[in-house]
Amino acid sequence: MKTLFNGLRAALFDLDGTLIETHIDFAQMKREMLSLVSRYGVDTEPIRGLDVLRLVEAARAHLEAAGRHGEGYRLRLEAFARLEEIEREQCASPVELPGAAQLLAILHTRGVRIGIVTRNCRSVSLRLLRAGNLICDTLVTRDDVPRTKPDPAHLRAALAAMGDETLHWLHSGGSAEASSAPPPIVMVGDHWMDIQAGHAAGVWTVGLLRGRSPDFFAPAPPHLLVNEIADLLPGTETR
Ligand SMILES: [Mg+2]
Repeated sequence: MKTLFNGLRAALFDLDGTLIETHIDFAQMKREMLSLVSRYGVDTEPIRGLDVLRLVEAARAHLEAAGRHGEGYRLRLEAFARLEEIEREQCASPVELPGAAQLLAILHTRGVRIGIVTRNCRSVSLRLLRAGNLICDTLVTRDDVPRTKPDPAHLRAALAAMGDETLHWLHSGGSAEASSAPPPIVMVGDHWMDIQAGHAAGVWTVGLLRGRSPDFFAPAPPHLLVNEIADLLPGTETR
C-alpha cells in the first residue's frame, strides 16, 4: 500500500462502517421518514428512491413550492430530530474497527491532513471519535454543510477547512484520472455514495468491501477496493 501513501496530502474518511462500527438501521430510518412525509400529505412515490437525507429535503421543497413554508420547516425539524434520536440510540455501543485509529495516527505523523466526512449528526459523530480514539484535522458532519455526500460539496468543505493547499490541487485541474502520479487526495468509504462523492470531487477513491461482493460498488466503482480499513495500513498487501 506504499503507493497510496507516497505524495498523499490529504485523506478523507467516511465515519460509520469505515472508521468505527455502529449499528444504524438505515432501512428503519427510511421507513420512518417515508411515514413522516406521508403524514404531511406529500406523495412518497416520486421520492421513495432517494437516500434518507435527500428524501426529507425533497419533501420540504415540495411543501415550500406549494406555499406551505411553515409545514416544510416543521417537517425538516421533526425529521432531523427523529434521525438524531435514532443515531443516538443505535450508535450507543460502537465497536472499534481494527487498524482504524492506527491508520489515522500514522497518517498524522506523516503530515497527511485528515478529514472525516459523515452524514451522521455532529453530537453523535464527536462521541464516536472519542470512542474510537480517532484523530482528525477536521470533522464535517451533516449539521455543518447544506449538502451532504454524495454531493462533492461535502468533501470540498472538508478540504477547505484543512487549508488552501489541498483545495489548490483541485482548482488547478488536478484529477485522479489525469495521471499515474500518486494520488494527493484520497476519499475512503464503505458505501458507493462515498465513492460517488469522491469521483465528483475529482479525488482518488478507496472502497471498503467489508465482506460484500464488489457488485455493491457498481453504482460508483472506486479506484481501489480493499476488504477493510486495516488493509490500508502501510506495508499491507492489497487483497
Ligand atoms: Mg459508512
